[in-house]
Amino acid sequence: MSTNESRRRSRRQETRLWRVPVVRVERVTPHLARVTVRHESLASLAGAGTDQNVMLYLYPEGTVLPEPLTLESARGLWARVRPLTRTYTIRRHDPVTNEVDIDFVLHGDGGPASAWAARVQPGDDMIFVGPSPAYQPDPAADWYLLAGDETALPAIAAILTALPPDKPVLAFVEVADETEEQQVNGITWLHRGGVPAGESTALVDAISAADLPGGVPEVWLAGERTAMLAVRAHLLDGRGYPRPRVRPTTYWRLGESGN
Ligand SMILES: Cc1cc2nc3c(=O)[nH]c(=O)nc-3n(C[C@H](O)[C@H](O)[C@H](O)COP(=O)(O)OP(=O)(O)OC[C@H]3O[C@@H](n4cnc5c(N)ncnc54)[C@H](O)[C@@H]3O)c2cc1C
Repeated sequence: MSTNESRRRSRRQETRLWRVPVVRVERVTPHLARVTVRHESLASLAGAGTDQNVMLYLYPEGTVLPEPLTLESARGLWARVRPLTRTYTIRRHDPVTNEVDIDFVLHGDGGPASAWAARVQPGDDMIFVGPSPAYQPDPAADWYLLAGDETALPAIAAILTALPPDKPVLAFVEVADETEEQQVNGITWLHRGGVPAGESTALVDAISAADLPGGVPEVWLAGERTAMLAVRAHLLDGRGYPRPRVRPTTYWRLGESGN
């Protein structure tokens, strides 16, 4: 993750490991699986909202895990087996039902996390460590710009609910096509039109062409690294926004595994 966490206003929660059962898997769109876990321990998971995320632990099939599986006992296993880790956003946390949803983009090119989400079934365990601190929007900004690809949609949807209601907000989300759009108010959807994920210029093109408000912006960006750098370069060099007002996060890198 390239975001400098110290630049974020954040609330920190105790980091711990969660091993919780999957209760539902829903195909929200053709390439998005919503995995829901439910467990009483999740009552204390989140609360800071916005882009809070967790690190998914993926163990090789058949690994015998210690009981209970905690951060400490997982570390004790490291000499023999280390999990693959991938970062995902808490799309929804319900402190009444103790459910958490995580939305997985199914990108179908051998990514272990995407493959796990494509085959996971109710009754399987999801193992993750977290949560991260959450982005706290700066209330002093005059307006907000949120932009990213479909991996950033869970965060953007949550951030939209946390922004001051009396300030202008623009949110651009790039997806493959209209079948990948979701019911989230306030988003301008951009379609890649057949261009593979990570190779599209849809975001930078739309933002360059947009009539953006004046005043002090706060910009939150997340998605594929090169696409985010292009948007950032446009905002800093083309629009002259001050560097600290533009916060890009690399969520994934084209052609590279892991994050
Ligand atoms: C803070 C944070 C929050 C995130 N939240 C979410 C989230 O809520 N939902 C979500 O789906 N992702 C999210 N991501 C992105 C996700 O972690 C990456 O996409 C990750 O690389 C997926 O792991 P994988 O094992 O499936 O693929 P990897 O093994 O990492 O990659 C395998 C191949 O797939 C490519 N690839 C990876 N992701 C994509 C993609 N989305 N589209 C096309 N090709 C891809 C890689 O370039 C590589 O060539 C988040 C990332 C961060 C840092």
